[in-house]
Amino acid sequence: MRYSAPKYTYDVLPAPPSGATQARPWIEDSSRWHWLEGIFRELCALYSYEEIRTPVFEATDLFHRAVGESTDIVSKETYDFTTRGGDDLTLRPEGTAGALRAYVQHRLHIERPVTKLYYIGPNFRYERGQAGRYRQHYQAGIEALGAGGPDIDAEVIAIAMAFYTRLGITRLTLKLNSLGTAESRARYVEALRAYAEPLLPEMSEDNRRRYQTNALRMLDTKHPRDLELLADAPALTDYLDPESRAHLDTLQHYLSGLGIAYEMDPRLVRGFDYYTRTTFEIQSPDVGAQSALGGGGRYDGLVEQLGGPPTPGIGFGLGIERALIALETAGVPVPEPPGIVAFLCPLGDAARAACVNLLSHLRSANLAADMDYTGRKMKAMLEQADKLRARYALIVGDSEIERGVVQARDMRTTQQTEIPVAHIAESLRGLGGLSEAGR
Ligand code: AMP
Repeated sequence: MRYSAPKYTYDVLPAPPSGATQARPWIEDSSRWHWLEGIFRELCALYSYEEIRTPVFEATDLFHRAVGESTDIVSKETYDFTTRGGDDLTLRPEGTAGALRAYVQHRLHIERPVTKLYYIGPNFRYERGQAGRYRQHYQAGIEALGAGGPDIDAEVIAIAMAFYTRLGITRLTLKLNSLGTAESRARYVEALRAYAEPLLPEMSEDNRRRYQTNALRMLDTKHPRDLELLADAPALTDYLDPESRAHLDTLQHYLSGLGIAYEMDPRLVRGFDYYTRTTFEIQSPDVGAQSALGGGGRYDGLVEQLGGPPTPGIGFGLGIERALIALETAGVPVPEPPGIVAFLCPLGDAARAACVNLLSHLRSANLAADMDYTGRKMKAMLEQADKLRARYALIVGDSEIERGVVQARDMRTTQQTEIPVAHIAESLRGLGGLSEAGR
């Protein structure tokens, strides 16, 4: 019996050894993930967002209520299960509902007037897999709770754009829209239904159902014919209430001031029922058919809906796999995975005993190190050092032990220097070239 990862999932593995001929897709290379997540965490610190970690499963009802019964995500894509104890739980399909559940449960609004949270974690959706679409995918997300103005909207959008810029993804389009308030949206939905009604016979079954249950969701359609039929549908932005209109105008003004280019997209509703006012999506041609890298929006009624005090909020979720795919497609240079400082090569049993201690000593001195554990020949040990991207191979034989030294071979120049064991850490640091190797 051979097992493989479940359908439409992937494994993230150590970076391929240095010099490997077989490339590894970036989404399967953990060094790429570390690098990307590091950039996201740095940005969050810079913008004063703090990490939240919530369970990967929550009460099923939470997602139905927050995301919306008639959204594709809840109606077709959730992983629902009943526990042995009889609780109905769902693997989280997105990050906002759990973060807000925790915000309400722990009364975080009491601690700060504005709570700024970030997370990196997996989401689960039972989708038909294709490039850039998986059944388990990761999102880097933020939620800013307690502020309702367009200034924080501009901040949230700016973080998302800064993330892509720092990664080196340059071919980006920011799409922007406003869904207004529940009331203005209701007026819009009326107009949308009136527009769609005569076209229903030509629309997909999905959209005919949406027309009945939740007409706004017709705009989520991916059927090409539906999209054609909806091309001249009324625009949400023509139905905004005066406050939502002013909010959008000011946000546009702020974005321009920050030098953030955007395109208005009056059909951008995104697949969740909780959005109010600002919605946005960032797209790139470098992710293929799935052009959305990430998106988000404002959800001013959601905290209250989940049992908290009335609290405005806005957030986003950026797909990590799609960012990695975009980088790989665009051929953006990213840092080499870090190697180790030293790989110890013992020649004989006495040397092996000495290396066990030496290895421990190096690690205590905060120098990343490894050694040969297989008793291979010199050539094979040096090859191993190369694969591990070691900066130095430290060769130890009987004569070195007698004299209390090691031969330090610079793996780039192949030059060999004899250094005393007593000063090994300082000497390796003194030889230099360690900056990009293990710290
Ligand atoms: P959403 O939560 O649907 O707004 O999605 C936000 C971002 O997460 C998308 O723009 C994608 O980058 C990513 N994403 C959503 N669903 C998937 C999926 N099934 N596989 C990979 N990435 C996804």
